[in-house]
Amino acid sequence: MNLTVIDHPLTRHYLTILRDETTGPETFRSAARSLTYTLVLEATKRLTLAEVTVKTPMEETTGYRVDNVVAIAVLRAGLGMLDAVLDMIPDCKVGFAGVQRDEETATPMEYYSKFPDLSSASVLILEPMLATGGSLSWAVDKAKESGATAIHALCVVTAPDGVARMYDDHPDVQIIAASHDRDLNDVKYILPGLGDMGDRLFGTT
Ligand code: URA
Repeated sequence: MNLTVIDHPLTRHYLTILRDETTGPETFRSAARSLTYTLVLEATKRLTLAEVTVKTPMEETTGYRVDNVVAIAVLRAGLGMLDAVLDMIPDCKVGFAGVQRDEETATPMEYYSKFPDLSSASVLILEPMLATGGSLSWAVDKAKESGATAIHALCVVTAPDGVARMYDDHPDVQIIAASHDRDLNDVKYILPGLGDMGDRLFGTT
């Protein structure tokens, strides 16, 4: 299985704030950032490290540095997870995948993409709502075209359809999520979900 659901009290706490329909944009943004820290910890568990020598006030010893991580925010909801990644990995490079969901067909339509060189990078794709999987699968295609081979997807909530689609299209991609939800409704929103992540982050409707 390529899905890991984080079983941590803080993840559940922040997810509940995100699910609550009375949560306004300011608290929503802060909870999304806090929840993302817990996803990043899991996704980076097996990062390759560069060995360095560090001099403590006492003597030299071996240390380790995180090397060559790239975050790709799937616009626009992925922006709600980006600050948490940058807090934890400040020198990580950032790409953007602009994909809009066609509300009639729920299929992804590209409007912008810009990635740094991804060959030999550890890539974290930020796609909070894995509903049908169309946007994430498209973003992974683009990342692979730019040389990515080690890819994690960080999601707040996944749905069975999206996980199945990713398993078919990209079984090598590890998905880290705060919750695996029940279903999609007839317009492909996740149930119980948290509504439209972009709208809730940015106060749009
Ligand atoms: N995108 C969202 O923001 N929410 C969903 O439930 C599905 C896709």
